Amino acid sequence: MGFLKIDMFLAAVFLIVLSSLGFVCIDILKMIILSMILLKGVKKLRNKEKYMFKIKTYKALSMLLSIFIFITFLTGFTYKNPKKPIPVLTYHRVNNETLKSRVPTVSTYEFERQIKYLKRRGYQTISEEQLLYYYNGKNVKLPKKPILITFDDGWRDNYENAYPILKKYNYTATIFLATGKMGEDEYLTWDMIKEMKNNGITFGGHTRNHVNLSKVSLDEAYSEIKSSYDDIEKNLGVKPISFCYPYGGGDLSKNVQNKVKDAGFEIAFASYNYGINMGNINKMAIRRVLMPRFRKLHKLEMLILLW
Ligand SMILES: [Zn+2]
Repeated sequence: MGFLKIDMFLAAVFLIVLSSLGFVCIDILKMIILSMILLKGVKKLRNKEKYMFKIKTYKALSMLLSIFIFITFLTGFTYKNPKKPIPVLTYHRVNNETLKSRVPTVSTYEFERQIKYLKRRGYQTISEEQLLYYYNGKNVKLPKKPILITFDDGWRDNYENAYPILKKYNYTATIFLATGKMGEDEYLTWDMIKEMKNNGITFGGHTRNHVNLSKVSLDEAYSEIKSSYDDIEKNLGVKPISFCYPYGGGDLSKNVQNKVKDAGFEIAFASYNYGINMGNINKMAIRRVLMPRFRKLHKLEMLILLW
């Protein structure tokens, strides 16, 4: 195991050197932690005779690890404009009733635990506008541990359950509205939206009818995107700046991204590209982290930081 320890040591040295140079080293950290988890697993298996691992396996593993770390090290230098990694969290529904629903749901109790945890760990919410300005290279002062909280669709429980908790902890959020559904059962009303807007919550587009933009014609996609822009402008009297792709944007084409831009949105959020935002950012496909309903809070920060 000696040479593996040396690898870990080298990796740590790399990390420290890069950190001191001011580069974003989350990828390296990720690699180290993943390999530690991997090695722990290998060690466990090794104890069972039938899974006996040969020294060669270790050697191969450590070699691979070194290559990974080296590549990460090199790419660290190719970032033209190193940016602070900013996690964007995704929630949908927050309630105690529909935990078996197909729509990702976090119980109200769990939601508060997660927010409380983030607060305690020093995370501070930023607005989508701050994020946009930061990515546009403007001189924006971000908190030490910035985080953006988002909700998809515009569920009524966001107002009833999540909003009071956000207020309690002095957090803000952005809610993406499938504008045509507002006022329907289980969805927000425009009055609720206005009240939240007056208290710092911002709103972005999510198409009018929650259509899968990769499955409709480009014209229809544009009309859906633009309608959500217009609905928000008409009802709130402000131009929205952000958009969120309804089905995560897994097969999102450049054309659709351009339509989002054409409609007037300046920044767009996806889900398929799970992870945090660092290095070269595509402002039309910002990465997010889908928040699960688990109960182990220490995993929360791992999740935010590692993916
Ligand atoms: Zn949605």
